[in-house]
Amino acid sequence: MSSNDQKRVLMLLSPQSYRNAAFLKAGERLGLDVIQVVDVPDALASEWGINNGVEFRKPEQAEKKLMDRLGSDPVNAVISLDDSATLLASKVAHRLNLPSNDPEAALAARDKWVMRQRLHEHGVPAPLAWRHDLDADPATIALDVRYPCVVKPNLLSGSRGVIRANDPDEFTIAFERTRQILVSEGFTNETAGILVEDYLPGIEVALEGILSEGKLQVLALFDKPDPLEGPFFEETIYTTPSRLSDDEQRAIATCTEEASAALGLRTGPVHAELRLNDMGPWIIEIAGRSIGGLCSTILEFGTGQSLEELILRHAIGEPISGAERGNDAVGVMMIPIPKAGMLREVCGVEEAKQVPGVTGVEISAPINHSIVPLPEGSSYLGFIFAKGDNVDDVEAALREAHDALEFRISSQIRLTADPVSPPSR
Ligand code: ADP
Repeated sequence: MSSNDQKRVLMLLSPQSYRNAAFLKAGERLGLDVIQVVDVPDALASEWGINNGVEFRKPEQAEKKLMDRLGSDPVNAVISLDDSATLLASKVAHRLNLPSNDPEAALAARDKWVMRQRLHEHGVPAPLAWRHDLDADPATIALDVRYPCVVKPNLLSGSRGVIRANDPDEFTIAFERTRQILVSEGFTNETAGILVEDYLPGIEVALEGILSEGKLQVLALFDKPDPLEGPFFEETIYTTPSRLSDDEQRAIATCTEEASAALGLRTGPVHAELRLNDMGPWIIEIAGRSIGGLCSTILEFGTGQSLEELILRHAIGEPISGAERGNDAVGVMMIPIPKAGMLREVCGVEEAKQVPGVTGVEISAPINHSIVPLPEGSSYLGFIFAKGDNVDDVEAALREAHDALEFRISSQIRLTADPVSPPSR
């Protein structure tokens, strides 16, 4: 039971999200009454002992269920921790008359096809894109495509199913692979599509910010020093502050604010990925949520506030304008999965932690479990965090720590018998 002045927040979590712990901790530190809602079907919710289980993929049904459960108990904010619930969060917040993004905007920030259309309508620089059904014939489409191109699902995140193709043969294979990923996730022609975009050359950055009535406050601009040229686009190193010039940084912030306006995003966190080339900044993606993985661990604002605390404070209507990041250079490396198999052992963690500047090494992939690299996979082996006087040192520390790690991955053992055949009687 919450006290009268304790603020209540409805928090929408995915069971597998890296972000849950940081948001829950932030809620605790701020003394909020957090109602956790987890993305699980009813049948599993009771088995797992979860009180509030709804399916984020069925927003109408989930919205009704949440409204029924809330009854006349007010909440001060509805927070989605990742992309999968941004639409549901905005629908529920709307029904409760809480400040939130319009559901249309939440959809545009979630569905890359809607996003591309909005950006083009508003003249925000973004790659040209075409949408195809899952059952389209790639060999036919391949003849009309401009190369190089990028094939990607309109939904999903973390670069899953995002593949560069340089010619019709590569295109046909890429399209098939992306289709398989969507089908394996239960998507159909009605619920998802495959985008084909012009490949945009350039360096890439990620902007972390927060919107208040459409005005963007930049919280951090990250450089991504590893080349992202495909065929797959695994995230590795992020460092901040950016090495780009003030003019370039301003142009990136302006482009992000314009992109937010084009989508209709007006409030809450934004995470944008942009490419920068001779023609200026281009939006690759803009999402109405904060940075993924455990990357926010390296960010600290004002007197030791986490990014999640800022987001929650903003959501409950507290001012956050004074919250600036300190002068330290910080960085994170998302450790990509080098090959598919069974993760048997991770060596060198202690050596990696001893590298000067390294502030943490977290191996998140469980031992003796199978691991899947991009484009099919959706997780990392872990994260390395570093801090220093300048970003060159931080980047070097991350690379040295990564070199110290050794991942023993064995090939999966294949069953010779057909595991789905019924036993003979
Ligand atoms: P996700 O939401 O799954 O991360 P994105 O659309 O952000 O998917 O793509 C993931 C990465 O793929 C980007 O960060 C970028 O490096 C690369 N990428 C995506 N689209 C393009 C494009 N049109 N041109 C060049 N690179 C791209």
